Amino acid sequence: PELVTNYLKAILKNEKDITNVIFNTQTLSKAIFPRLSAQLNIQPTNDIVKIVDENSFIKPMFAGNILSKVEYSPSHSGLKILTFRTGNFPLSESEQVTEINLNEQSNIASLPDSASISADTPFNKFVKVELPQDTGRPDLSQAKVIVTGGRGLKTKENFEKLITPLADSFANVAKYNNTKASIGATRAVVDLGFVNNSLQIGQTGKIVQPELYVACGVSGAIQHLAGMKGSKVVVGINKEEGQPLEQVSDYTLIGDVDTVLPELTAKV
Ligand SMILES: Cc1cc2nc3c(=O)[nH]c(=O)nc-3n(C[C@H](O)[C@H](O)[C@H](O)COP(=O)(O)OP(=O)(O)OC[C@H]3O[C@@H](n4cnc5c(N)ncnc54)[C@H](O)[C@@H]3O)c2cc1C
Repeated sequence: PELVTNYLKAILKNEKDITNVIFNTQTLSKAIFPRLSAQLNIQPTNDIVKIVDENSFIKPMFAGNILSKVEYSPSHSGLKILTFRTGNFPLSESEQVTEINLNEQSNIASLPDSASISADTPFNKFVKVELPQDTGRPDLSQAKVIVTGGRGLKTKENFEKLITPLADSFANVAKYNNTKASIGATRAVVDLGFVNNSLQIGQTGKIVQPELYVACGVSGAIQHLAGMKGSKVVVGINKEEGQPLEQVSDYTLIGDVDTVLPELTAKV
């Protein structure tokens, strides 16, 4: 993030005509934009879910419990730094994804030479990059299907034994492009060490908006809902009735994960 922040700063220093710096809401933008905004002394607007007009935006606050409207005053003529929750802006049928080559198609007069930008700051020293292991599954933020396990799975072994095969079984489903589902987790199971924290979904984890979200042994604490309630279809599997997850679920299956998940895996 320090490197990209310094790179963006170098571009903005040369290009006074740029009015908006935009990015999708994701871990990287959460790391870069506060740094960039603080260094440029600009108030960013993060996690926009709706554009009202070029100066007003709607964004969630307090773990998604309220939506707030942020308005730039009409006299604001400076730079805006904005991040968008991309799942709220689906492509229309007529739109196509176009790849652009920044070096050839940018209207930025001259991009700074990246080799000349350092990741060091007065407070940080760049040590090394460690990329997460390739899981062979779509990234959580892009996934069409997510299978999430919670404390109801009880042990790390049970999590792997029950959640992984169910997630894999979606490779048989044409509707979801014959792709394995991504695996998600609640903070409870991350804290218990069942999975790496890169899989955590929620207020302090990732925000996801898949077409199908299957939550197994998950109570639906407000901090978890903040990360997944934008999912199109939510299925909850829980042995108890009346769990908070039901408020956002389209389907609730009451049963023990130990028996329900193998049956479901076989059916998918
Ligand atoms: C500041 C803050 C930030 C947080 N951020 C996050 C976050 O980003 N993401 C997050 O997830 N949490 C977050 N939390 C934690 C959150 O409050 C909950 O503690 C957590 O989400 C609970 O996880 P869980 O649903 O797995 O566990 P529990 O709440 O313990 O729920 C377990 C569920 O499993 C069911 N169950 C038990 N056994 C079985 C069985 N055999 N078969 C079927 N069902 C069974 C139970 O009925 C229960 O509903 C945060 C908390 C705080 C204070």
